[in-house]
Amino acid sequence: MSTLRLILGDQLNREVSSLSDCDKDNDTILMCEVWDEATYVKHHKKKIAFLFSAMRHFAKDLEDDGYNVRYVKLDDDDNSGSFKGEVERAFNEKNYDALVFTAPGEYRLFDDMGSWQSDFDCDVEMREDDRYLCTPEEFKDWAENRKQLRMEYFYREMRKKYKILVDDDDNPEGGEWNYDSQNRKPPKDGLDVPAPYSVEQDDITKDVIKLVAERFDDHFGDLEPFYFAVTRADALKAIDIFIKQRLEKFGDYQDAMVEGEPWMYHAHLSFYINCGLLLPLEVVRKVEQAYKDKDLPLNAVEGFIRQVIGWREYIRGIYWLKMPQYANENFLEADRDLPAFFWDGKTQMNCMKQCITETKENAYAHHIQRLMVLGNFCLIAGIDPRFVNEWYLIVYADAYEWVELPNVSGMILYADGGLLGSKPYAASGSYINRMSDYCKGCKYSVTKKNGPKACPFNYLYWDFMSRHEDTLRGNPRLNMVYANLDKMDDEKREAIAEDSRRFFKNIDDA
Ligand SMILES: Cc1cc2nc3c(=O)[nH]c(=O)nc-3n(C[C@H](O)[C@H](O)[C@H](O)COP(=O)(O)OP(=O)(O)OC[C@H]3O[C@@H](n4cnc5c(N)ncnc54)[C@H](O)[C@@H]3O)c2cc1C
Ligand code: SF4
Repeated sequence: MSTLRLILGDQLNREVSSLSDCDKDNDTILMCEVWDEATYVKHHKKKIAFLFSAMRHFAKDLEDDGYNVRYVKLDDDDNSGSFKGEVERAFNEKNYDALVFTAPGEYRLFDDMGSWQSDFDCDVEMREDDRYLCTPEEFKDWAENRKQLRMEYFYREMRKKYKILVDDDDNPEGGEWNYDSQNRKPPKDGLDVPAPYSVEQDDITKDVIKLVAERFDDHFGDLEPFYFAVTRADALKAIDIFIKQRLEKFGDYQDAMVEGEPWMYHAHLSFYINCGLLLPLEVVRKVEQAYKDKDLPLNAVEGFIRQVIGWREYIRGIYWLKMPQYANENFLEADRDLPAFFWDGKTQMNCMKQCITETKENAYAHHIQRLMVLGNFCLIAGIDPRFVNEWYLIVYADAYEWVELPNVSGMILYADGGLLGSKPYAASGSYINRMSDYCKGCKYSVTKKNGPKACPFNYLYWDFMSRHEDTLRGNPRLNMVYANLDKMDDEKREAIAEDSRRFFKNIDDA
């Protein structure tokens, strides 16, 4: 009995279900760099280099351990450019009794690969991806008959199920489930942010970088400097470094943004977790252990664990619950084009310039930059969700549709009409001013509400609330907002509308 085992680029872990019963003598592991996947959107150059290099290292590790690996490089002769084509080629060269793979993370591939049984003359088995803490079926059961799918309640279930930060009676550590209210400190002067973890390039990575420079020159983003970990061993070091250098302040400054400090006290682990180099539960267990051993602050540890077992799993649950229709949601009927400055950072809005430039350099921006600067802008400017989703999928090294789409359509754009968030995350410039030092270096004045010098976030915020008054006024969480809008006289309302018109007319110079 011989089995062909297909491993996708985000399944780079020995624990992945498709490898669980792999027979070193008879089975072949197929891994391939295919043009279709590298180009279905024009991914950031660093993202492609990261994944190709991590794949090549994973394949080499397997080979060194005695597995038969059929690794197809992008430029190999006869590379068909698609997964199916590569499976067909493998079958043309050898007769396997079975084809096994772990379910892909994206609906697009799931839909395609789900029909492979009829295409291949052997048993085709798609296995559950058990790296996650909650299966799509469990999430569906949890969601059934609930009026609102709030992450907080889902998160508590995960804490109890995996016995994380709970006592023997499932009571939460410290008495509260959530310490988020302690995690909103604005940045203060003199924060000593550690340098990010950086791994030296080896020959495999250098080869990949050359390939990406040649073949993906027209893609977004800076390829070099390239410093990501591309092996499990180095990704494991990244967890230890996070715990040692950043975790203590992760909670306090989770929402803070500082010019020239793209990495802040965040973990920078999403790229490694999402492609399989790290498993979410092992990351969480290590952080929980560090809390016990090192007396780290509970608000930091709980905050981090909530992101991984709460938000990350919840986002994935929503994706599988609502696909494929979720990809077309546009509750607010937003229809504006994505401004050109999203690709080059050339805007006078300093907050946008910083976040876009850092994204271009690093294929990374931290959560609040993605949510409250870039996302907030897309929401209040009314950018079409299709363009926003494509941009986020392209620019971040951790972006796969299962995690990007609900964050974008649900969390930032309110395109699902409130399934994921109880209200739109819209904010004026004063939020950005409170949580960052960006406004100091901006051409616009954050304290000015109207006129050409006023911060665009100020009038665009009110223009958004005004434009969507019919839809949003009934939301109890927006009562205060609409009470304030009601206090504005016609002259003020007209000034907001006029500023917004002028802004959109001259958006390329904004
Ligand atoms: C508009 C928008 C788009 C996003 N797109 C992606 C994406 O494509 N891929 C992605 O992995 N994350 C995405 N996120 C979530 C989050 O911003 C990133 O996971 C995080 O910035 C990664 O950096 P980090 O590892 O330093 O995270 P930290 O801030 O240190 O958080 C720790 C971990 O928690 C998990 N996490 C935290 N928040 C979320 C969340 N909302 N959804 C899923 N996981 C979460 C990640 O695994 C992350 O590594 C997006 C958020 C927003 C608002
Ligand atoms: S003034 Fe407005 S546009 Fe400028 S950095 Fe502050 S929030 Fe951004």
